[in-house]
Amino acid sequence: MTPELPSDISALDASDPLARFRDEFHLPSGVIYLDGNSLGALPKCVAARIETTVMREWGDGLIRSWNACDWIGLPQRVGAKLASFIGAKPHEVIAADSTSVNLFKLIVAAARLRPDRRYVVTELGNFPTDLYMIEGAQWLTEGRLCLRACETPQLEAAIREDVALVLLTHVHYKSGRMHDITELTRRAHAAGALVLWDLSHSAGAVEVDLNGARADFAVGCGYKYLNGGPGAPAFLFVAERHHADARSPLTGWLGHAEPFAFEDHYRPREGIRRHLCGTPGILGLAGLDASLDLSLQADMKEIARKGRRLGDLFIRLVEERCAGYGLELASPRDSAARGSHVALRHCAGFPIMQALIHAGVIGDFRAPDILRFGFASLYLRYRDVWEAATALHRVLESGSWREPRYRARAATT
Ligand SMILES: *Cc1c(COP(=O)(O)O)cnc(C)c1O
Repeated sequence: MTPELPSDISALDASDPLARFRDEFHLPSGVIYLDGNSLGALPKCVAARIETTVMREWGDGLIRSWNACDWIGLPQRVGAKLASFIGAKPHEVIAADSTSVNLFKLIVAAARLRPDRRYVVTELGNFPTDLYMIEGAQWLTEGRLCLRACETPQLEAAIREDVALVLLTHVHYKSGRMHDITELTRRAHAAGALVLWDLSHSAGAVEVDLNGARADFAVGCGYKYLNGGPGAPAFLFVAERHHADARSPLTGWLGHAEPFAFEDHYRPREGIRRHLCGTPGILGLAGLDASLDLSLQADMKEIARKGRRLGDLFIRLVEERCAGYGLELASPRDSAARGSHVALRHCAGFPIMQALIHAGVIGDFRAPDILRFGFASLYLRYRDVWEAATALHRVLESGSWREPRYRARAATT
């Protein structure tokens, strides 16, 4: 028997200032989508925009569209729109490449600004690509640059006078724990180091003020809370004060001062565009551009506030309804210290998540034991959270997750 939706929860939806945005998304029926932190849902305007870009701009316009539709200016225009989500100036952000590639570009750029320092500090358990990209820079420089990865409580002590760069993820991809950008940036600067923030789980989910914190560099994803589509371009931020000196190691022709002069030698362009490398993927950029136009209609404060409330409600309902089944909260309980997703720990996390997905509630699993639930404020209702907790309770109570079919692993989790 399905319990009835409590009236306080329908009241939350009735007074939700973001409620109108749900209609702007294509959401399959019978699905509660709690994985927008990994791949945002499809805004209807994105499908329309990509269709126009394909048929009219590419199909009819052909190569003329680089100028006629300003395809060539799209990385900058998208970057300028992104800036308002992260507390940057429009000319400090550009949409380009993937988050991984942008990390590499900025790790090397930062290291060259601190030539007498050897270490890049980060925390163990950071998203793997952040760690791996530092290792790549270490390999390339034959150890001139070295990774110093420490446990989170040792972070501040690890930021010493030999550190060139501190690279941290603002909202942790598993736990959702949120670092204090202002405080850690201050700490790094006090030691003479630069700071690179990975905003993959922050942009479009929580309020970020890079310039307020005097951050040096940042990167982030376009396909998570920004709903740009699978593999949408990422972004990078370089504070204006570093524009003249910070250079990309990937010296592709679109970062050249005059790409269409076709010179034999590389000269970096002025401004943020020197961090471009090669020809941008216009279909992905167009999708992200349209999605940002939609998100810009919402107040970022409201988005962040609703994300906290959805997460708080989920934690409360899970603790009330699913007690005694071995679930443990793996996120900060205080929503002020948490991003927009909630992690639960369970030793059978994988099959439980598979059974839940089968029941129509899509979250994801992160090895070894984390069930992750993302709360995207633009298209989720409070009642969805309630229904998700109800479905989770049903999976646990019935033990349906013990069926062998829920143990099969696919290539992507
Ligand atoms: C999702 C995520 C990435 C993804 O990087 P890609 O290059 O887009 O695959 C990077 N860093 C963090 C912290 C992430 O959460």
